[in-house]
Amino acid sequence: MEPVSAADWYRSLSFWHDTVPGSLALGAPLPGDTQADVAIVGAGFTGLWTAYYLAKRDPGLRIVVCEREVAGFGASGRNGGWCSALFPASLTKLSRLGGPGDDRAGRERAAAMQRAMYETVDEVGRVAAAEGIDCHFAKGGTVMLARSAAQLERARAEVAEAREFGFGEESLRLLSAPEASDLAGATDVVGGTYTPHCAAIHPARLVRGLAAVVRGAGVAVYEQTPVLALAPGRVVTAYGTVRADVVVRATEGYTPDLPGFERAIAPVYSLMIATEPLPSSVFDQIGLGGRPTFGDLRNLIIYGQRTADDRLAFGGRGAPYHLGSAVRPAYDRVPVVFAALRWTLAELFPVLGSVPVSHAWGGPLGIPRDWCASVGLDSSTGVGWAGGYVGDGVSTTNLAGRTLADLITRTESPLTSLPWVGHRSPEWEPEPLRWLGVNAGLRVMRVADWEEARTGRPSMAGKFMGRFLGG
Ligand SMILES: Cc1cc2nc3c(=O)[nH]c(=O)nc-3n(C[C@H](O)[C@H](O)[C@H](O)COP(=O)(O)OP(=O)(O)OC[C@H]3O[C@@H](n4cnc5c(N)ncnc54)[C@H](O)[C@@H]3O)c2cc1C
Repeated sequence: MEPVSAADWYRSLSFWHDTVPGSLALGAPLPGDTQADVAIVGAGFTGLWTAYYLAKRDPGLRIVVCEREVAGFGASGRNGGWCSALFPASLTKLSRLGGPGDDRAGRERAAAMQRAMYETVDEVGRVAAAEGIDCHFAKGGTVMLARSAAQLERARAEVAEAREFGFGEESLRLLSAPEASDLAGATDVVGGTYTPHCAAIHPARLVRGLAAVVRGAGVAVYEQTPVLALAPGRVVTAYGTVRADVVVRATEGYTPDLPGFERAIAPVYSLMIATEPLPSSVFDQIGLGGRPTFGDLRNLIIYGQRTADDRLAFGGRGAPYHLGSAVRPAYDRVPVVFAALRWTLAELFPVLGSVPVSHAWGGPLGIPRDWCASVGLDSSTGVGWAGGYVGDGVSTTNLAGRTLADLITRTESPLTSLPWVGHRSPEWEPEPLRWLGVNAGLRVMRVADWEEARTGRPSMAGKFMGRFLGG
């Protein structure tokens, strides 16, 4: 049997990697000990957006990015392609960061964060267009379906929270059953919500395009360069040490691999499938005109998009968390989860019952203990970080990159005073408590969905878990 080349293996990572134009052959590794102004660990969206905005801000900066595999290897190349204004912590929770909370200042901080997220969706589209990155950006918004009374209650609560923070119909609105079904013609729809603030994208096209753009701007992106440790002033790799005034950790789901960061985030897997391209007659039945991203309001998240070539790319959580925060290629593929996704897609849209699935894949996302993403730069050590996006990193990484560029260049801006800046999430529990807690949480959410489907009432277990997980 022919050995599989690295480029072929990277192509097999996901539907997006399989269909991204250009070569996935590995770039050169770090040539040896190097001096830089800024050293970034990880060439996903976080690392590359940071490099992009830094290079724009100061073209003279020497910026080095070290990536263990190939640029776009991680979640950035494999995700659901929701470039959304979602942030993993709710507005209420954000209003309590950096202050007592329920006061006017806390609410304004949370609202400012939400507005920044809205702007970020457009910023991603703007840069992609300006830099000639054809990432199939289609700002069709998001429709979240309510398919039970319990889900409808959740939809109402989300809209009520948005109103409380000053966001009107133009930001998020409740849909009647016919309105929701018009957008996404699924079964059992009793209502839903719609926000215009989301674009469907081809994530690998964006991340690979971004890597090419930053290289063109003079950033050194070294691939096949595992970072063994990072510390103030240096990044130690298998091929030499990068010394730099500023060191940025942009390793998300892979973070626990780094010494000293074992309990910083829990890598939890999200898995996806993609169908073969579907005929227009299917979309006559299920809608999705304008390519809105879609899901329903169950506890254990599902998400989908109509791709530019008329497939459905559809994913969900539920794959197990692995002891010791282990991340391995074998964990990307869990046949029983793929089968559940296939079943759920057909249950949503029965017309897809016999449609062939062309790709199935997965990857780790990063969950901080309090489910609140953060970005920051410790000015005393020069060590910066961004991450903990849970499943909402596609656009949030862009906000992180712009914020880090401001922090690193000491530029005061509205971004640097947003409530997630400098936030420190607590560490996860040691094992085996972490394993027990995360997997119990996943199980409770599954049971809560089953209970809600059966009784039509919100599950107490689901509510408790939502609160426990920081919703
Ligand atoms: C299946 C799936 C679906 C998702 N869907 C969505 C979605 O629709 N919308 C959304 O907003 N978010 C989604 N997410 C989350 C989103 O993809 C991530 O939050 C985001 O891509 C994180 O970007 P990142 O650059 O921080 O991390 P990553 O893209 O994971 O990049 C980290 C990089 O660091 C490298 N690295 C790690 N450790 C080292 C080391 N020691 N040395 C050198 N290099 C290292 C890795 O190889 C990797 O390339 C999804 C995630 C998954 C897995």
